[in-house]
Amino acid sequence: PTEALRAADAAHHIHPFSDTKSLNEEGSRIITRADGVWLTDSDGNRILDGMAGLWCVQVGHGRQAIADAVHAQMSELSYYNTFFKTTHPPAVALAERLAKLAPPHLNRVFFCSSGSEANDTVFRMVRHYWDQMGKPDKKVIISRWNGYHGSTLAGTSLGGMKAMHTQGDLPVPGVHHINQPYWFGEGYEMSPEEFGVMAARDLERAIDEIGEDKVAAFIAEPIQGAGGVIIPPETYWPEVKRILDERDILFVADEVICGFGRLGEWFGSQYYGLEPDLMAIAKGLTSGYLPMGGVLVSDKVSVGLIDKGGDFNHGYTYSGHPACAAAALANLDIIENEHLVERVKNDIGPYLQERWIGLGDHPLVGQARMKGLMGALEIVPDKKNPHKPFKDVGVPGLLCRDVSFEHGMVMRAVRDSMIISPPLVLSHEEADHLVATARKTLDDTHQILKR
Ligand code: PLP
Repeated sequence: PTEALRAADAAHHIHPFSDTKSLNEEGSRIITRADGVWLTDSDGNRILDGMAGLWCVQVGHGRQAIADAVHAQMSELSYYNTFFKTTHPPAVALAERLAKLAPPHLNRVFFCSSGSEANDTVFRMVRHYWDQMGKPDKKVIISRWNGYHGSTLAGTSLGGMKAMHTQGDLPVPGVHHINQPYWFGEGYEMSPEEFGVMAARDLERAIDEIGEDKVAAFIAEPIQGAGGVIIPPETYWPEVKRILDERDILFVADEVICGFGRLGEWFGSQYYGLEPDLMAIAKGLTSGYLPMGGVLVSDKVSVGLIDKGGDFNHGYTYSGHPACAAAALANLDIIENEHLVERVKNDIGPYLQERWIGLGDHPLVGQARMKGLMGALEIVPDKKNPHKPFKDVGVPGLLCRDVSFEHGMVMRAVRDSMIISPPLVLSHEEADHLVATARKTLDDTHQILKR
């Protein structure tokens, strides 16, 4: 029963990214089942999962083929590790499969269990690479304010969330943050194109100030997801690419959200024509059915990491876990067989984008934006002056999120941006329902805010 579950949850469970005290007063939401794009809660309500869980359930919930593949693998070999020169068939098959799917210069993968672990691995890998290449002074990693790269010490440090830095006295030394390309929030006094170039040049300035001989890498998401679906102006990535091409530092794409079809390409880097030296992956790799992440490694980095010999003293008990690898393989089969990446590019992506961007006419919306199947609505107090934020930043967003849930749909609030990232299997009918529910949610939120 819902009340008994809530009471036990309140008594014993500390939730991530939640004010547990107020959550316990209100009672948690209890999700008991899910199929396709629909969740069911403990009271039997059906809720459209506009966030694909946490940006991860590419193939939709409840796919029997993945459950069957995991069951079969567990019956054969439920666990063994990949340390000390051992391996097993699912890890090999997945590594080979990822090398085929990824851009041609990325031919190796290091496995872990999450996006946070992937970025911890990145942190050590780039420094180890430069040591091996005889440039041990190259240690600084540049990342961006408001980026999210996970919750471990390295992930939080690389991330640019100040509210996270203050808990735990972070970032660790050797991380330098630069501006994000958030035109709506920060750059509206110039054109998006001018702002994109200016934001990119912050990278150039940082490298020149720190010294190229001290900078190991630049890490970034193709589109910042948890930061609020920050879609960079068209000029941003070409300028960053120019800067990186002229300098001897590694580029790490955090593809934890943008990978596996979210932007209508297998990887977000391909969407923007980027050639990362390393790629962090997780989430859509297994569609969240089991925890798994990894770092895809380029041939260039393999020279330092592998060809020069020596151990990379890093690894996780569950690196390449056989059941997780089986889940990933079955998930990739579905993405390929159902042409989900192409579907995002040519079908459901453009279909939803047109309707979502149409919400920009709502009196509460200052900007509606979307690429692939990642979208945001900036809700604002005064549409005529859209860049002026609410006085109580973040409160209207949370209200809007709760109203959306009451209407049977998950939207996420990042400050006062409403975010969606639905499963790639979303049908046209479900997309219509999503947009209609978002509009109803905006109407009701607007009424409440006017009171
Ligand atoms: N990197 C990005 C871009 C993410 O969005 C996330 C999680 O949302 C992570 C890393 C961390 O992944 P995980 O939660 O699997 O540790």
